Amino acid sequence: QRNDWEAALRVIEKIENAGYEAVIVGGAVRDYLLQRKINDVDVATSALPNEVKKIFSHTIDVGIEHGTVVVLDEGSPIEVTTYRTEGTYTDYRRPDEVTFVRDLPKDLERRDFTINAMAFTKDGNIVDLYGGKEDLKNGIIRAVGDPNARFREDALRMLRAVRFAAQLGFTIEEKTMKAIQEDSDLIEFIARERIRMELSKIWVADYVFLGIEALVESNLASYLPGNFAKHLESWRHFRTKKPEVGWAYLCLLNRSDMEDLFEFYRYSNKEKSFAKKVIHAYDRLLERWDEYDYFSNDLNTLETAYDFAHWLGKKVPFSKEHIGKVKEHLPIQSMDDFALNGNLLIQWSGKRGGPWVKEALNKALHAVLTGQVKNDEEQLKEWFYNEFVNER
Ligand code: ATP
Ligand code: MG
Repeated sequence: QRNDWEAALRVIEKIENAGYEAVIVGGAVRDYLLQRKINDVDVATSALPNEVKKIFSHTIDVGIEHGTVVVLDEGSPIEVTTYRTEGTYTDYRRPDEVTFVRDLPKDLERRDFTINAMAFTKDGNIVDLYGGKEDLKNGIIRAVGDPNARFREDALRMLRAVRFAAQLGFTIEEKTMKAIQEDSDLIEFIARERIRMELSKIWVADYVFLGIEALVESNLASYLPGNFAKHLESWRHFRTKKPEVGWAYLCLLNRSDMEDLFEFYRYSNKEKSFAKKVIHAYDRLLERWDEYDYFSNDLNTLETAYDFAHWLGKKVPFSKEHIGKVKEHLPIQSMDDFALNGNLLIQWSGKRGGPWVKEALNKALHAVLTGQVKNDEEQLKEWFYNEFVNER
């Protein structure tokens, strides 16, 4: 990240040497001032996209109609965007038409929150026209300008406010919050993928519960499936680094509406199967896991199910470390290690294949996992004769 910042400063220097203005803007300035990990460093400039392209030897047009060119010359790729204002807004979504301008204040004015509307110049000065520094100090998310107007321009900003509250542990300023409450229904105009991206960031945020609280208080929760208000308390101890864990937990809290959640939030097949697997493991955990649960689930699934129980205040009589230990000590780790297969059974029995094969295999697997038989072909053969052949 340090490298990105340095690369951005070199990009700025070259643009300025060519006679234009350039600054670092947005999230990078915010995170720099907070001494937080910087995500990506964006540069804004008075130069037009074609002018930017002339200054550097390696650029990519990523969104040239929006004014963005990626500069590759300095090692880290740096997005350079021409100062712009946003034109007309239709449908409460961001406009696809933008107007390039030559001065920074106009560009800062279009930005969503005061803490995101600061610029960092090459001499290390902060351009702060909206009290962003003060709001950073006080931990406040405040819309730039009239909040209602800003949310009507782009309703996604309402959810971004909640997301930043969750990431930074900040409070949404009163008028900004009131405006979200008034305009919360406009979130329905926003593409599900965008909603999904913001929620994914909330799941992994440091102050996720603050985020869920803000989601409820802002009334956005009324338009987002998941019954956040009803299940608020169940989110209090939730904490993760993986978005899919959040998506699975949301399913656990809304088990009877899982299909609706899948649909609305556009779960991937991987997220769906993870959610189902973990919920199954969670149910089994409340009954008590046996060897087969340890064998048939991967460690991540088991540990996530364990976390679910923990977050929901269920008593589990062992530690999380215990899970990995039990799993390691299983006689076999996967079906590939199993010394038995259907063909051997058919050979040994002299009978034709049928449903009995699967049944016998399961029984043998259970016997191996519980240590009743060694995972060894000879011993399994003997076990098999005793169990299935001698009896008859
Ligand atoms: P992060 O990258 O850490 O998620 P960020 O603040 O950099 O956070 P981005 O989505 O990368 O957020 O946007 C970069 C900057 O562009 C923001 O800081 C903000 O100034 C501006 N911005 C982004 N989305 C909007 C929006 N919907 N309305 C107004 N300004 C926006
Ligand atoms: Mg960013």
